Amino acid sequence: MNNILIDDKEIKPSKVVCIGRNYVDHIKELNNETPDNMVFFNKPNSSISQELRFPKNFSSCHYEAEISFVIEENSISAVGFGLDLTLREVQSKLKDKGLPWERAKAFDGSAVFSHFVPFNDSVDDLSVELYINGELKQKGGVDLMINKPLDIIKEVRTFMSFEDGDILMTGTPSGVGKYVVGDIFVGKILKGDKVLVEARFETL
Ligand code: ZN
Repeated sequence: MNNILIDDKEIKPSKVVCIGRNYVDHIKELNNETPDNMVFFNKPNSSISQELRFPKNFSSCHYEAEISFVIEENSISAVGFGLDLTLREVQSKLKDKGLPWERAKAFDGSAVFSHFVPFNDSVDDLSVELYINGELKQKGGVDLMINKPLDIIKEVRTFMSFEDGDILMTGTPSGVGKYVVGDIFVGKILKGDKVLVEARFETL
């Protein structure tokens, strides 16, 4: 089983729960429709990694930077930076046919996380930033989310349980794109102007 870290404590999440299409500007960049109901998909423990790798046997893969939370006792216990890696071309084909997205979203190494820090404060002014090779590529926060984190947790729990240590990824702002081996990613989670988490990944 794969681990994440809250400070120095190892946690083995059973799953990563992801919401799709949660920022209006990202919905527009992919020409998607705004959903009536929240759109969810899961990534299994086997998708979790603390290293950023380019998936084997594929020519292109997209990054999606997301504010990510650890859930314990149905509440947020920690916050970190996450990358929801997506084989966009595979996903587009599956979407067109109305098929499930696991091949595009749940492959090994597709859920990349920084360390997490304990968090029990208000989520309202949290935001995420992603820099690739020093250039700001993505920036967005809870203020721009269609569904706010506490509402997402409530909705998930109407049909699926959070095990302690599970992770919630809260969707990506605009600016998603392709990356290549050697790219240097720096991801940040901010509360207001204060950086809570900063992580650097070299693409392997
Ligand atoms: Zn995503």
